[in-house]
Amino acid sequence: MSNHSASCWTSLPTLQLQSHFAQLPGHLYTRMEPTPLPDPRLVSANVKVAEQLGIDPCSLQPDLLASLMGGHELPEQAAPLAMKYAGHQFGVYNPQLGDGRGLLLGELAVPQADGSEQLWDLHLKGAGQTPYSRMGDGRAVLRSSLREYLIGEALTYLNIPSTRALALCVNSQQVVRERLEPGATIIRVSRSHVRFGHFEHLYYSRQHDDLKVLADYCLERWYPQCRDAEKPYLAMFKAISQASAHTVAGWIAYGFLHGVMNTDNMSILGETFDHGPFAFIDRWKENAVYNHTDREGRYAFDKQPDVMHWNLSALAQALTPIIDVEDLKAELENFPDYYQQAYLKRMRERLGLAFEDEGDSELLRRWRALLNMNEVDFNPLYRALAEGQSEQDGQPVIDRAALQAFRDQLGEPSQSLWLDSWLKDYEARLTLESRNAAKRQAAMLAVNPVYILRTRVTDQLISEAEKGNFQPVQDWLQVLQNPFEQHHGIADELRWAPDSKQLTMLSCSS
Ligand code: AMP
Ligand code: MG
Repeated sequence: MSNHSASCWTSLPTLQLQSHFAQLPGHLYTRMEPTPLPDPRLVSANVKVAEQLGIDPCSLQPDLLASLMGGHELPEQAAPLAMKYAGHQFGVYNPQLGDGRGLLLGELAVPQADGSEQLWDLHLKGAGQTPYSRMGDGRAVLRSSLREYLIGEALTYLNIPSTRALALCVNSQQVVRERLEPGATIIRVSRSHVRFGHFEHLYYSRQHDDLKVLADYCLERWYPQCRDAEKPYLAMFKAISQASAHTVAGWIAYGFLHGVMNTDNMSILGETFDHGPFAFIDRWKENAVYNHTDREGRYAFDKQPDVMHWNLSALAQALTPIIDVEDLKAELENFPDYYQQAYLKRMRERLGLAFEDEGDSELLRRWRALLNMNEVDFNPLYRALAEGQSEQDGQPVIDRAALQAFRDQLGEPSQSLWLDSWLKDYEARLTLESRNAAKRQAAMLAVNPVYILRTRVTDQLISEAEKGNFQPVQDWLQVLQNPFEQHHGIADELRWAPDSKQLTMLSCSS
């Protein structure tokens, strides 16, 4: 994934950060320094992210990272700032949001293979109170920081766009949540920290000139390909919409539930952003909800595409000062189609279908219904389906023995018949493919992971890390960066869903 040769690596102590966002109108941010934390200690550094940023992995010394992430020593010209934004939370507009506990440290110019440079944001999360903290303490806890640190990798390596993190540190400050918890910080990295809520802030506070300034900044920095369109802002909105559709299709295909799809948590790059009470659902359940504050199930698993559509309409509303309303309405109508195409693509990949057949939607609908009715531990099932690909007399056949563990999860005998009938149709569908079984199998094994980041895994890692044992985090970092192969030393049971079908509810308070 790295674009760099060692010769152009920069080292952590000499990191040169730029401050482009700080040139925007002043009410979009407040400049401020982190509030230092006691006794910061490195839990894990992410070599792959360092490489992507062009940072020499050998320069990631634990004491240097700890001092940076404890807010003691920042890169020399760093001019940190807290961003101001707003957003719709659970459908209700809240003007009073912003970085309440994180600071944009600055932007790092990363040389690309073609000689150009790409700017990457470095954001210190857990850095202390800001003018946007409201009643919050400005801190983050080890539990949620560890989850955010790892989920960025889990998603990225499943080819689902996500922010990532360069490192995770713990400190000796105890933070009050549902209990006293160890404080922590991460350095979140992303090409953009601009949210839908930035535009909503400028729209609802009637700062429409500045809204145009921000839109121009976004065009220039993240959507240069839209500048030459007849209607550049509309082209950018379309690109945001397509990127968001692609991401949410990845969530649905792999069973990821974001948990808090508020518009302040929506990135204008369409990345999975602001990870909180997220989960990979263990067992397929269309209406799964994990966030215990989401009592009405607004952000239930199967509602996510519709919610993304709703969020895009909130963004569209905020863009009405610079884009024609009819154009926005027409573009919004395309979203279901963007989503459907992206979703079909992901699901075809998982099922090994290289050819596009009209009947695929129906085949997938029945597949999902089968998973849903039986609350199946579906991720290992895809793996089994990949392993079970074979041929008999030149015809595609799925080895039924490979699916036995799955058959055991089916509720009633009629469900087993349903599975058999689905498998027959799937085999018939495979006859339309030009790839042979071996090639199909190889392709499927490369997109269907052996491991996903289940809640049972993060729970275990949190409990170990809180005791000071950080090695399992490091081990899982490597697992998630190559989830398609078996890793020795990882307990086999962690590949499977827990026996209980009870959902583990997750707290928003992080
Ligand atoms: P989140 O639920 O993390 O997306 O946060 C929603 C809003 O609350 C954002 O404006 C955050 O910056 C802010 N916030 C969340 N937790 C804290 C905290 N512990 N201290 C200050 N602000 C916070
Ligand atoms: Mg947020």
